[in-house]
Amino acid sequence: MISCSGNAGKKPLAENGILDLRDYKFDHHLRLDGEWRFVWRDSSSSALASTDDHINIQVPDSWKGFRYNGAKLPGHGAGSYFLTIIIPEQPASYALKFRTAGTAYNLFVDENLVGSVGIYSIDSSMSHPQYEPKIYNLGSLSNQLTLRIDVSNFDHRLGGLWESIYFGTTEDIQQAREKQVAMALFMFGTMFVMGIYHLGVFSLSTRGRTALYFGIFCLIIGLRTLTTGEIFLHQLWPALSWQQLVKIEYLTFYTGIPIFFLFVRLQFPDEINLRVSQAVVGISTLFVLLVLFTRVDTFSLSQPYFQPFSLLIMIYIVYALVLAFIRGEEGSTMVLIGFLALVVTFLNDMLYIANVVHTGYLISLGLLIFILTQAFLISIRFSKAYTTIELQRTKLERTNAAYQSEIESRKSAELEVLKHKEHLEELVEDRTAELQIANERLKELSRVDGLTGIANRRRLDEELDREWKRMLREKRPLSVVLCDIDHFKYYNDTYGHQRGDDCLVSVATAIKDSVNRPGDLTARYGGEEFCLVLPETAGPGAIRIAELVRKNVLELNLEHKSSPVAKMVTLSLGVATMIPNKGSQPLVLLEAADRALYQAKGNGRNRVEQNLTEE
Ligand code: GH3
Ligand code: MG
Ligand code: MG
Repeated sequence: MISCSGNAGKKPLAENGILDLRDYKFDHHLRLDGEWRFVWRDSSSSALASTDDHINIQVPDSWKGFRYNGAKLPGHGAGSYFLTIIIPEQPASYALKFRTAGTAYNLFVDENLVGSVGIYSIDSSMSHPQYEPKIYNLGSLSNQLTLRIDVSNFDHRLGGLWESIYFGTTEDIQQAREKQVAMALFMFGTMFVMGIYHLGVFSLSTRGRTALYFGIFCLIIGLRTLTTGEIFLHQLWPALSWQQLVKIEYLTFYTGIPIFFLFVRLQFPDEINLRVSQAVVGISTLFVLLVLFTRVDTFSLSQPYFQPFSLLIMIYIVYALVLAFIRGEEGSTMVLIGFLALVVTFLNDMLYIANVVHTGYLISLGLLIFILTQAFLISIRFSKAYTTIELQRTKLERTNAAYQSEIESRKSAELEVLKHKEHLEELVEDRTAELQIANERLKELSRVDGLTGIANRRRLDEELDREWKRMLREKRPLSVVLCDIDHFKYYNDTYGHQRGDDCLVSVATAIKDSVNRPGDLTARYGGEEFCLVLPETAGPGAIRIAELVRKNVLELNLEHKSSPVAKMVTLSLGVATMIPNKGSQPLVLLEAADRALYQAKGNGRNRVEQNLTEE
């Protein structure tokens, strides 16, 4: 806040070693900045021999480079600062606040030693550096006071009162310090917890590198709050040397910047060039190594180089963030807001240092806002990732279940098909077998005479053919006997067609029963004519069988009253016998038998005749 009440616009500045505060209303502490009187005390350099000559020197600043007796002051050495402060008449309680000086001092007020930090000495081996912010209560004062600050430095490349010294009412100075302490501890606590939390998140999910960088960054910032401002690290860890403390302070700066850069790059990889990222890490590593392996005198030289380097990095990050914002990258708004808070508070601090505003250092607040927005962003990302995982898991489960039931239904369908197939195969086998039987039956039927049940004409032809060929091969005799019922026309006429059929069946059975050799065949030749095929049977054998047939049919004693031959059914038979020869056909044998039958008919019927001509 710009102070406009009471001290409107004017910031009191020391001139020629005097700071006139008679018009200053102590509603706010002020800095003892401006021209102080200065005497160089170091006797080791002849060119700068102590002459007790006062020069005017700027505070806050290092004495290094100021002209003294015609020569430029070095960084190392010792000197005394003087300031006379003229204060309002009314008595009030005042206090001084020192943060750090380079690098040891004794404070005198009106030539009384009030306090010291480190060990002041003009002897380089005796001077001992220390950083320790301190408040000096001066008690009730009026009119004026003179400060003398003896400063020695043989450890830092710069020396002198490089930081503003604050002056104000005791109450105001105390309050300001308490505020700072509270803020610093709050910042440290926040950063520490945030850092540990995000490292924990990273340890649970190694893919969350954002959380890793962010956690480290928070811890670095946390550590930095302990090394700057009230420098609590010194109180927490008194054994820590000044060298180590400064090292840690520098390291938090030199590692914080690249870690922060990597953190931003992880979130916006498309906006931040890989080469730039590698360069940032590489260059920062060089700076870090310098801090680690050299002393403060040396590595503190690097700060004037690292500062513009980090400024460039910040500008590049702003560019990347704006680019991400324009492209509408997820989370870019949040990062940009946090980063703007950082930039605004940084600018505020610059203005505060320049004494333009009296807001105090706000960079911690900016950092806090930035850190909170980032933490919020990271938690949003994690919860989003988690939601996505949950969604995918449910989806996967559903798909799995669907597949499972699909597999089961397919399996059962397959089983069904298999069962059906087996059944079908059985069915086919059964049907095939049935068909085969039916076929055989059909085949048999096609060779059997429907009425009499003996072989029919077709079977007769086949068998005769087969036996003809067999006998041809074996040169054995083959005989056939043709049997014809005598006057069967009359029988039908007398007894009717049905009884005619019955008669035919009886006669057929009688003829069949008259032969018993396995090769013999009895067949119906047609109408009331029957034929016997007798393989390997010569003439006399055939006649004997024919006679037997005639006798057996006669003995059936089937009444045939209209027959002119006898009172019962009689047969006429014609016998023919041949040893088959290649030139002839089975038909010849049948024709011969038929001729013999004709003879039997002609010779009075009920008799056997033999065709002798063929034999
Ligand atoms: P023959 O003594 O000269 O042989 O006199 P036939 O009457 O027996 O001779 P024909 O050949 O003139 O007559 C045969 C008769 O046999 C004619 C037909 O009525 C009868 N017949 C033929 N086949 C069957 C049949 O399957 N069933 C019946 N009932 N009669 C038949
Ligand atoms: Mg006939
Ligand atoms: Mg007949």
